Parts: sequence; C-alpha cells; structure tokens
Amino acid sequence: MFARRLAALALASSVAACASLAGCAAPAGEEEDPSVSDGSSTGDGTSEEAIVSEHSLVGNELPDHTLALTFDDGPGPRTQELAEYLAAEGIHATFFINGMHVPGHQAALDAIVGRGHILANHTQNHLQLTKLSAAKVITEVTQTDAFIQEVQPNGPWLLRPPFGAWNGSTAAAVNGTPMKKYVGSVFWDIGGELTATSAADWACWGKGVSIERCGDLYLQEIKARKRGITLMHDVHNKSVDMMKYILPKLKADGWKFASLLDVPSIKRQIANVSAATAAPDACSSSTLGRSVPAGSCVQSRNDTKWHRCDNKEWLDASGPTDPKCTGAKFPL
Ligand SMILES: [Zn+2]
Repeated sequence: MFARRLAALALASSVAACASLAGCAAPAGEEEDPSVSDGSSTGDGTSEEAIVSEHSLVGNELPDHTLALTFDDGPGPRTQELAEYLAAEGIHATFFINGMHVPGHQAALDAIVGRGHILANHTQNHLQLTKLSAAKVITEVTQTDAFIQEVQPNGPWLLRPPFGAWNGSTAAAVNGTPMKKYVGSVFWDIGGELTATSAADWACWGKGVSIERCGDLYLQEIKARKRGITLMHDVHNKSVDMMKYILPKLKADGWKFASLLDVPSIKRQIANVSAATAAPDACSSSTLGRSVPAGSCVQSRNDTKWHRCDNKEWLDASGPTDPKCTGAKFPL
C-alpha cells in the first residue's frame, strides 16, 4: 500500500480547468494558468490516494532572484539556435517536446541534450489528456517517451501535460504503466497569462503584442514573483527573439538560472519516485533524475566528478574505471 501511495505521488495531480474551449482547441501554444488548478477535486471515480494536489510542481521555493527556464511545444525551426544560445550563456533549460514535431527536427533534440539541457515529455499530439481514455493517455506519453529515450537514455524523466490539464484519472492511468518513471505534473510560475502586468508568449503573438512589449511584461511578472519556473514556447520564432531580448536585462539585474532538477518540489518528487521504485540500498541521483543500484557510478552534472553509490550514500569515485564501480556507469 505504501509503495502504491508513493507511486501515486510520482505523478502529482492537479485539475486545471480549460477555461476557454476555443483556446484549448487551438493549435500549439495555449497553456492554462496554474492558479485555476483545483487539486481538491476528487476526480471522477478514482481513489483519493491517486489525487495529490499538494504535489503540483512549481518553483516558488527557488532562491530569491532565481529562475528555471522551460520551453514547450517544440521542437521548432529555431529550437537548436535557442539551445545553443542558452548554453553559451551558461543556462541549463528544459524543453518539453511534442513527439509530433520531432520528424524533421531530430538535430534539435541532439542539440538540446548535447548542450546540457533537459529533454522532457509534453506528449505526442498536444491533446487535452483529461478528455482522453486511459489507453489514449498512455499512448500519448509513451510515443514521445520513445523519442526522449533515444537521445537521453538515462533520464531524467519530466512530464508536463498540455494546457496543464491533469487530474486523478490521468495520474492513475500513467502510474499503472512503465511511464510511472515520469515526475510531474511540472507546472510553471511565470508566463501563464497575458494581463496588464504579466504575459504569455503565445497569447502575445496571437494578439499582435510586440516582442519588446511582451518581453517587458515577462520581466514585470518575473520581478513581482521574485523566483520561479518560466513558461515560453520555442515552437514560436518570436519567443526565441523575446528570450534574447530579456536575458541580457535579467543578467544585468543579477538574476540566476537553475536547472529544473534544482527546483525543490521536483527534487522531492524525484526522491519519492526513487523510493517507490528502487532497491533498499539504491541511491537517488539528481543528475539522472532517478535512483541507481548500489555499485553504480555517476558523473555529476554539477561538478563533473564521479560518485559511487554505496548503501544509499554517495562516495567519491576516481572515475568510471574505479575498481569499486562494480555496477553500471553513467557518464554525462
Ligand atoms: Zn503546450
């Protein structure tokens, strides 16, 4: 029972109502504001323990003046350019891709991983999962997982449902399959809605708001929130230009950039997933976003040094050829 509860935690649920049907049915880009989430819903007939609203993953515990950048709905024509630009600026971002956009853009996936960013799952066809059968939900996640597996075989495994639409039923469906390795549902703090004091890139472009004006609204919301996960859409060319417009201003103001794996709520969730699926002597690896068995050696993303898992603890290792590395080796 305990293990089952932890498995349910692996995919935190939160119900994000789709406020406007027109908006939801529109093509790539539309996302819902997480503030409309109603995680207290008991869903439609699923057990209570599959509904864990408090585990909606946002970035409000990041340090002051720290952002984790996320980009959805790609890969697009300029995703590779964006991945290279951010890497040159020393930033590790996360790209939540739709599998349907991968054909023709395979090089973008290689660039994302090759430049030290995280490739993450935004499902195959950008459908609203809460309106699909359990079988279709699993298909949507699994198809895009195949693309991610190919270029990022050691994880991490992060999931963001289209429109943020997620509930107990979708969580239970995914948790009943090998896709329960995913941590989610990953939300956002900044970039969810176009208002007088905040922006959502897709809404800006739909309403003819300029790159500078939209960027300034993002900056305004970022300053007001002080920290968090930002949401933009690399599938839109203007969003790439906007990122290049706001990044120098953020750096000049002293903002720092964290990986999504450094977001406290996501770190905790990864530990939960690891605890639910790992052997008792395994270690949780933040670099891989999952646990590994004792004897495994992992090269850390933070300091590029090697560490060996020894009965739930990480010890220094001399490198992948360390004789004590008796298990699998995971180079960066
Ligand atoms: Zn999306």
